[in-house]
Amino acid sequence: MSERTAFVTGITGQDGGYLTERLLSDGVAVHGLVHGSDEQVAELRRRCPEAVLHSGDLTDAGRIAALLAEIGPDEVYNLGGISSVAFSWEQPVLTGSVSGLGAVAVLDACWRLQDRTGRPVRVLQASSAEIFGNPERAPQDERTPLRPATPYGAAKAYAHQMASVLRSRGLAASTVILYNHESPRRPETFVTRKITAAAARIAAGRQDRLSLGNLDARRDWGWAPDYVEAMVRAVRHPEPDDYVIATGESHTVAEFVAAAFAAAGVPDWQSRVVVDSSFVRPVDAVEQRGDASKARAVLGWAPTRDFAGIVGAMVEADLALL
Ligand code: GDP
Repeated sequence: MSERTAFVTGITGQDGGYLTERLLSDGVAVHGLVHGSDEQVAELRRRCPEAVLHSGDLTDAGRIAALLAEIGPDEVYNLGGISSVAFSWEQPVLTGSVSGLGAVAVLDACWRLQDRTGRPVRVLQASSAEIFGNPERAPQDERTPLRPATPYGAAKAYAHQMASVLRSRGLAASTVILYNHESPRRPETFVTRKITAAAARIAAGRQDRLSLGNLDARRDWGWAPDYVEAMVRAVRHPEPDDYVIATGESHTVAEFVAAAFAAAGVPDWQSRVVVDSSFVRPVDAVEQRGDASKARAVLGWAPTRDFAGIVGAMVEADLALL
């Protein structure tokens, strides 16, 4: 059997990097779409020199189709898009084109490639808890109604539904409905890394205070490499389907701050945190908490790190960086 080939969009992001490492260690040839900054591309080349990088933009459907025809992948992971919910309020049109229509460009190109060659193409769409908006009940699962409340969520909901539309046309397209997933590779535009980086700098006497927005939001924070493992399991399962990927536990932003400051050895976190309204979102889900029972039962997937383990690993990495 010839070597398996994967194509990954969003390869320079947090998940793209972990996924590439995971696939390469499995003997899969990895091709990726790069649109990120030179710094992110350099970082990926350093970590994964075997990955083949192609420049392109998800909004260019012709380029996506041409690349897929050239590479002829067995597995396609669509992780690309606008990754920040906060930024999606600034750029709703761009968010719709990249995260919504861009996903359709990938799904459609995969269907056409499979139709033309007769070789199956398996696809993974990285969906998001944001498709549920401000859900009435926690935990959410695969049957929770889609009712997005942010431009990010609405774009992801469209992509999510197009994956099931293409599935009904014979494409093995699966989705993973990912809850927040973190690691030391998260940029500081996300609250977890913003907090752990600040905790480390405050512990080292290099920063005085930390400005944050909504401290009461409850999120279900998991460990990014675990979520990448779920993607691989979902795409390779014989029956394409949708899976919630979450820990089942939620914590407030304030609890994250308290745990991170304690791990960094900074006493009295309240005296260090300032609420700045510029970080408060126009709409923010009160609680996101996922029920991953289906992924556990069907994919044999389970998270390997709990809240304390994630906070501890991120703080430790940020202290080491100093
Ligand atoms: P998201 O869930 O994908 O938007 O991930 P984030 O890490 O950006 O935000 C998680 C939660 O933290 C949201 O409820 C934000 O409103 C809240 N939050 C509070 N303060 C901040 C902040 O200073 N930056 C960010 N990014 N989020 C914040």
